Amino acid sequence: MSFVLPSHPSGQPDTFDVAIVGAGPGGMTAAIYCSRARLATVLLERNTAGGIMAITERIENYPGFPEGITGFELSEKMKQQAAQFGADLREITTVAALDRQADGSWVVVTDEERVAARAVILSPGVEARKLGVPGEAEFMGRGVSYCATCDGALYRDKEVVVIGGGDSAVEEGMFLAKFASTVHVIHRRDELRAQKIAQERAFANPRMHFIWNSQVRRIVGDTKVEAVDYQNVIDKSVTTLPVSGVFFYVGQLPNTTLLQGVVDLDENGYILTDDHLRTSQPGVFACGDARAGLIKQIANAVGEGALAAIQVEKYLDGLDFGQAGGPAAGGAAAVEPAGTAAVEPAGVEGRARGDAAGA
Ligand code: NAP
Repeated sequence: MSFVLPSHPSGQPDTFDVAIVGAGPGGMTAAIYCSRARLATVLLERNTAGGIMAITERIENYPGFPEGITGFELSEKMKQQAAQFGADLREITTVAALDRQADGSWVVVTDEERVAARAVILSPGVEARKLGVPGEAEFMGRGVSYCATCDGALYRDKEVVVIGGGDSAVEEGMFLAKFASTVHVIHRRDELRAQKIAQERAFANPRMHFIWNSQVRRIVGDTKVEAVDYQNVIDKSVTTLPVSGVFFYVGQLPNTTLLQGVVDLDENGYILTDDHLRTSQPGVFACGDARAGLIKQIANAVGEGALAAIQVEKYLDGLDFGQAGGPAAGGAAAVEPAGTAAVEPAGVEGRARGDAAGA
């Protein structure tokens, strides 16, 4: 394998073996594996490293931390591990476009620069879905929040609402209950979607109050949130509940707008790959929550990050730009939905992978 080390020739893009888009747990794991395999690796992150993990108050189901660990601390550890093997992490760098070059390599266009790479790993993650109720946008930052870890301490001894019934709503609601006098969880059904252990703890917490079969219809206030109007979906009655804060946890959306027309996405915008995490474009792989997959867990994103990195190594080992049918020929690798037979890109069949990626 030949390594292309980062260079900064005047007017030319930095050149790397692999560019990783998004520094959540999947992207950072891919960066650890790629850089440890001595690939010149750049990790591009529009915010700061960690993604949603970094703003998760406490993580209890990531192996190796029996006492639990804060999302921020786990993010910092992953970041440090990627950096120690030489990955070039560029935070506050928004990727605007991906351009395939005639030789099969890629240029990742950011708001700052153009980064050239022989392969790309997409791990852009997800963001909180907006509910779209009146007052939600208007009171954003003035009582409306999508991040309990960031804003929870502002609501000491106040009443707040959490909307949703999934893991995020229940776990972040429990965090809010450390500060707020009452956390009203408004859920549209009479049963939570969250994991059972989280449900048990929430039901046992006297500060958690559940309002079932109800939908928030409006957020009310003058200059800041003062109340929510919610409707019981069975008897249609509407109640006004005075609160100071409203936290939305009604699901997530993949950060894949920039990938439309670049790689194949499913009907919800998640990135389609085969079992080897190959997208519809040769040399472009995907991992983490924005990939079309069954579960959204940090442990899963980490596993996918490792796999994507190992696949990149294989891809670069077998890269032959002159080979008919290879990336230079312009043919996108066929992508079957996950779970179906994988299609090897030209030039990689039968190659043994070294153990550079470690355990
Ligand atoms: P989620 O699992 O998709 O849950 C979204 C919740 O919002 C559901 O309860 C849903 O109700 C409700 N909802 C959706 N649309 C709504 C609407 N229009 N009006 C009112 N309510 C609405 O999202 P999440 O909790 O953010 O979790 C995302 C993923 O991350 C999941 O896979 C989750 O397991 C994972 N996660 C895991 C952990 C952990 O392992 N500790 C922690 C956080 C997140 P219904 O239930 O009726 O559909």
